[in-house]
Amino acid sequence: MKLLSVIVPCYNEEENVRDFYVELFKNDTFFREKEIGVELLYIDDGSRDRTVEEVKKLRSEDERVHLLSFSRNFGKEAAIYAGLQKAKGDLVVLMDADLQDPPSMLPEMYSYIEEGYDSVATRRVTRKGEPVVRSFFARMFYRLMNRISKTEIVDGARDYRLMTRQVVDAILAMTEYNRFTKGIFGWVGYRTKWLEYENVERRKGETKWSFWKLFLYSLEGIIAFSTAPLTIAALMGALFCLLAFVMIVVIIVRTLMFGDPTSGWPSLVCIILLVSGVQLFCLGILGQYLSKTYMEVKKRPIYLVEEEF
Ligand code: UDP
Ligand code: MG
Repeated sequence: MKLLSVIVPCYNEEENVRDFYVELFKNDTFFREKEIGVELLYIDDGSRDRTVEEVKKLRSEDERVHLLSFSRNFGKEAAIYAGLQKAKGDLVVLMDADLQDPPSMLPEMYSYIEEGYDSVATRRVTRKGEPVVRSFFARMFYRLMNRISKTEIVDGARDYRLMTRQVVDAILAMTEYNRFTKGIFGWVGYRTKWLEYENVERRKGETKWSFWKLFLYSLEGIIAFSTAPLTIAALMGALFCLLAFVMIVVIIVRTLMFGDPTSGWPSLVCIILLVSGVQLFCLGILGQYLSKTYMEVKKRPIYLVEEEF
């Protein structure tokens, strides 16, 4: 008998815990047919509502339900890592608690694992029900990311993914503190089958991602999986040096030929502003990488456990 670990990161999902359980076990006949045992791991990411109580209630009804709760909110990436560490399954699947990742797709995903794929990933082809501005920036982000990073990051990819033990172990071997999961999946590689589906809206409750949070997250992704900004900063420096050199020649020649009187205070101010702006910008880029390095060097734990069963 094979064991399937279902990892569900939850942050204030009290309304969805039970719904998720019900939806998942609608696949019961499939699980029985294929002789798959299931362990359902709810990873509570420091929820402030009754998520933990709901999971405990489920546990009293069904032994297959497990919980790992954090001491505070560490973020979804940390929850995924914790879930992967806790999972004992030969196969592992990651799913959102809000049912945006339909458990009804599991049998199809499993069929590809049987075919020999190591990992079955999903992407949504529509962004129906999402603010237009958000979709636009998301597209831009994926375009940019794929241009400046060697790691493939698929547009619309979700974290909904079925993986074999081999892939899970590869991901666990990446112990970095700044965990951009979408990049990590791409980085480890393996034979991956992509399934597409229409966007499903969140069942209950609210999304935890504001536009601003997503924006910062995208920056994190860029810094974690590309060093292109550093190269751009260096190139910009070189470009400015070249420009300065050309200007020097121009001014010397002009003074020698026309005896130019001192003038040009406004242009000087503009140049000073522009150059110091560029300098600060490049310093900022450097600072971003330095701060990430700082966090990595500290080697703090990725999450802290409060309760586990
Ligand atoms: N989540 C989490 N920690 C967080 C934010 C979100 O574990 O800090 C979980 C959340 O409970 C859900 C999943 O991550 O199961 C996806 O979150 P959400 O639905 O808010 O994101 P969206 O689908 O809008 O991108
Ligand atoms: Mg969601």
